[in-house]
Amino acid sequence: ATPMSIGVGVGRGAQLGVLVRDAEALERLQRVDVVVLDKTGTLTEGRPSAELVATGASFDDDDVLRWAAAAERGSEHPLGGAVVQAAVDRGLEVPRAEGFAAPAGRGVRAQVEGRRVLVGSPVFLVEEGVQGAGAFAGRVEALRAEGGTAVLVAVDGAAAGLLAVRDRVRESTAGALRALRAQGLELVMITGDARGTAEAVARQLGVERVEAEVRPEDKAAAVASLRAEGRVVAMVGDGVNDAPALAAADVGVAMGSGTDVAVEGAGVVLLHSDLEALVRARALSRATMRNIR
Ligand code: ADP
Ligand code: MG
Repeated sequence: ATPMSIGVGVGRGAQLGVLVRDAEALERLQRVDVVVLDKTGTLTEGRPSAELVATGASFDDDDVLRWAAAAERGSEHPLGGAVVQAAVDRGLEVPRAEGFAAPAGRGVRAQVEGRRVLVGSPVFLVEEGVQGAGAFAGRVEALRAEGGTAVLVAVDGAAAGLLAVRDRVRESTAGALRALRAQGLELVMITGDARGTAEAVARQLGVERVEAEVRPEDKAAAVASLRAEGRVVAMVGDGVNDAPALAAADVGVAMGSGTDVAVEGAGVVLLHSDLEALVRARALSRATMRNIR
């Protein structure tokens, strides 16, 4: 490829809503046969809202929400922001937390008003030895079946509440996936979220293959294993967690609204976080290559 023709492709990209950070990535885009899509923030808006939907027998609703919000206040995860907002919306004063820790892809832990508080996935709470989480199992499954994320709260080792977290699918997602599929591309959803939730969203969008409950550190390995099968892989993501997977793909594609880490590690950026731009980028990739040959 001559630098000039690539230059044409790069310049044209901005008009199409695509920022090409790596001209060779644009070139590889036309050879891609599978697109791996992060769920949260990529297929969905990444602006979740949370609601306390069940509380353990010996707990007060407002206490559970206050303590959960206190533990989440130090979190950089969008889920954490949603939990804090839910408490603020209820007019609750969020107390100070100590000893905050946030194991990636699991949840948060902190000391709040002398209590040991955990907020996170049901798997995380079970790993931490929390008792009584089973009492929420039916509601957790029902929530997942409609595409919601279940976040549990534990206080001093006992399950204390269930938060329903919902994040809307982006308006442009369904149309973009249809267009990518029409180009013969296989679509794979990858997410740290629970299988039930991931499959509900995938079904809604017609995504055939789902990799769920993938730990942040394993997203890149999932991309690498597709490449080992001889596939040419584009990975689309937005989060800090996605950066290694973007780097592991033949073409890393970041949502423009994504974190700096994701954008800096991507060959292609979708400026308006619109997946349709990926369809246009593929057309641009073909046109640019035609110019060169
Ligand atoms: P994603 O692929 O959706 O970005 P992550 O790997 O960041 O997912 O997180 C996976 C799961 O871990 C979430 O669905 C949630 O259940 C839990 N989790 C992660 N961070 C938090 C947090 N700050 N608060 C509550 N739950 C969390
Ligand atoms: Mg994401």
